[in-house]
Amino acid sequence: MDFLPVFLDIRGQPCLVVGGGDAAARKAALLLRSGAQVTVQAPELVAGFAADLDMARVSRRATVFCDEDIGGFVLAIAATDDDALNRAVASAARARHIPVNVVDVPALCSFIVPSLTDTRLAFGGGEVALVGAGPGDPDLLTFRALRLMQQADVVVYDRLVSRPILDLVRVDAERIYAGKERAKHTLPQEDINRLLVRLAREGKRVVRLKGGDPFIFGRGGEEIDTLAAEGIPFQVVPGITAASGCAAYAGIPLTHRDYSQSVVFVTGHLRDGSMDLNWQALAQPRQTIVFYMGLVGVDVLCRELKAHRMPGATPAALIQQGTTPQQRVLVATLDTLPEIVRRSEVKAPTLIIIGEVVRLRETLNWFN
Ligand code: SAH
Repeated sequence: MDFLPVFLDIRGQPCLVVGGGDAAARKAALLLRSGAQVTVQAPELVAGFAADLDMARVSRRATVFCDEDIGGFVLAIAATDDDALNRAVASAARARHIPVNVVDVPALCSFIVPSLTDTRLAFGGGEVALVGAGPGDPDLLTFRALRLMQQADVVVYDRLVSRPILDLVRVDAERIYAGKERAKHTLPQEDINRLLVRLAREGKRVVRLKGGDPFIFGRGGEEIDTLAAEGIPFQVVPGITAASGCAAYAGIPLTHRDYSQSVVFVTGHLRDGSMDLNWQALAQPRQTIVFYMGLVGVDVLCRELKAHRMPGATPAALIQQGTTPQQRVLVATLDTLPEIVRRSEVKAPTLIIIGEVVRLRETLNWFN
């Protein structure tokens, strides 16, 4: 079947969703996001119906659909698990020339909601794609990441994956939060590994969406290790890591012929209150150091670098929520950074960049 690609302006227009299940909730949410005036018709709603949906903005009809109900709507979506009912909605709509979509039944649709990218990509059922989502700005997704997100049946995502990025996942895909907050792991790593295996075994196209690059402080290796051991096909999609994203959006080149010939990425995660790092190797001149997860340990890392003969006047920057509209950059020195952080109500995620290159921000800053 061929379709004409169009974008409909449905702002303020009455649209009908028939059904009370998860698929109906997702379609209603999609219509709301497009500014429609949404009516949901179903005798009952499933328990989680309102989870993703602002019910205050939805009109509710608790009756079984009959043909007359279609009157007055400019667009209809049937999302029930009752074939006959879906057909009834489709034919009532078509009889009145109202565009109609029946979820997962293209033959009954007069319109479909296309994915943003229509190119085909080898991504089969039963496979897991470990996908880097970049540091926050959805424009920093790779094209491959976006295409896989648009084909996924289920997406397992982390706390670092921003809301606007999640909005680019195929509307009908199931979303599972596996996020981690410092010291408050929502799902233990082993459970995540097992979950991925189970979803793949169910024949689903699984996207495991992670902030930044999955192979940089992302435990990506551990997750696909389990998949490999279980014989589950997988692919890995690199993402822009926080260091490159934040550096670019803060106007801090990580290397520069005049100031820095090397850059190291290290984790500032504390174990028993200390960091087990090779400070001597880090505290080298003409080198930029990027600390991931360094906020809590900022005192320790500034102290250790100075103890290993890095000058206290070395410039240091802390970038909060880099590449997003909420990005904030604090510029300091090794001497002053801990105090400035204490005074500044800093919010995670944050990245710390240390080295002479930080000075370049003064002239190279371009973002907000
Ligand atoms: N795999 C990710 C890193 C995961 S570790 C990547 O490649 O970027 C999580 C740490 O990444 C955070 O504690 C923070 O230090 C850093 N981070 C991720 N996104 C960030 C952002 N938008 N702004 C600042 N730091 C960020």
